[in-house]
Amino acid sequence: MTAYKDRSKEELLQEKSQLEAQYKEFQGKGLKLDMSRGKPSAAQLDLSMGMMDVLDSFTDLKCEAGIDCRNYGVMDGIPEAKRLLGELIEVPADNIIIYGNSSLNVMFDVVSHAFTHGIMGMTPWHKLDKVKFLCPVPGYDRHFAITEYFGVEMINVPMTPQGPDMDLVEKLVSEDEAIKGIWCVPKYSNPQGYTYSDETVRRFAALKPAAKDFRIFWDNAYNVHHLYDEPQDVILELLSECEKAGNPDMVYKFSSTSKISFPGSGVAAISASKANLDDLRTHLTIQTIGHDKLNQLRHVRYFKDIHGIETQMKKHAEILRPKFEAVLEILDRELGDLEIGTWTKPHGGYFISFEALDGCAKAIVAKAKEAGVVMTGAGATYPYKKDPHDSNIRIAPSFPPIDELVQATELFVLCVKLVSVDKLLENM
Ligand code: PMP
Repeated sequence: MTAYKDRSKEELLQEKSQLEAQYKEFQGKGLKLDMSRGKPSAAQLDLSMGMMDVLDSFTDLKCEAGIDCRNYGVMDGIPEAKRLLGELIEVPADNIIIYGNSSLNVMFDVVSHAFTHGIMGMTPWHKLDKVKFLCPVPGYDRHFAITEYFGVEMINVPMTPQGPDMDLVEKLVSEDEAIKGIWCVPKYSNPQGYTYSDETVRRFAALKPAAKDFRIFWDNAYNVHHLYDEPQDVILELLSECEKAGNPDMVYKFSSTSKISFPGSGVAAISASKANLDDLRTHLTIQTIGHDKLNQLRHVRYFKDIHGIETQMKKHAEILRPKFEAVLEILDRELGDLEIGTWTKPHGGYFISFEALDGCAKAIVAKAKEAGVVMTGAGATYPYKKDPHDSNIRIAPSFPPIDELVQATELFVLCVKLVSVDKLLENM
């Protein structure tokens, strides 16, 4: 197929009228499909139903330390849960605090703590004229929502397949004391599915920030979320790299079992240096008398150890992989030669990132919506929802059943074609 940019005006007009006819057909189908959020499907949730049976009224509900999990207490998490989450986060159990049901909640709390009380005795951020965060883009909308909520100025840093542009990160953090953090999804990033290279991780560990309370917000949400047995992406463990580089306190690592067991009913944890964890405990001991230990116990008794989690993730992959492959097959088949978009082909995670022609993303998402398919809002992958090129669209294949996903993707590529034809005609 000839690339759209190499077609004459007449050819494009002809293509447009064909595409419009196809679009009308789609509109007639009365579709109501959702490809907007990275939620697991019901079939994936079913994989964890056995967890409902591991605790019943006859179960011994004492944890390893002999403490009754039905009662208050144990601020950091029960020892066996710290061990399990430690394996997941790849740090010793001592470097962990187990929180509640959501890692996003922990990230919010940590930022909130920095604003109200300051990090490790340093000036609370609310007393500063300006607080800035670096935001690798495209990125996760809910990270950006947290920093926007606290009035943080967010600075875009371009992503590459190896991670954020580290020349820019190094330069900015070393020059500007107002830069207090950076949001990172280091493995199977949201939305591109990129994994940071060893060099990127080492450069993170060796950063020389102007601000002593600069922290890397390392959200390892997709650490074990592979789509394939081979290849599987691997990253260096940042906490130990930071220690080696003489920056032990520079990172907070976040993790949860949300997309391993049940989103909203999983177990979340933070990992950091002892000094950072002690600092967070001052906040935590006021905030709660202890998190949900029965849920911690349920997770440990169900998964037992990291091998149990890995086995579960293979089952998730069996459900997710055909969905990713179906979307990629349609993108390749329908858009492969047209030069009106590029997309990522991740080995794991929950998303495919689509780059449309500049100035087309909003119109594509709107067109898909008009025909009954909801995509993640265009712009959502950028701070303040402002995509400077209006080109990035996040595709979330996980939730719809595969037949619906195929229909939704067929419509999506049609919308990409329609909007691109219009754009090219406009510029002729
Ligand atoms: N971080 C990233 C990068 C995510 O994509 C998600 C879920 N979409 C979360 C965190 C949310 O995690 P939790 O359920 O633990 O709050």
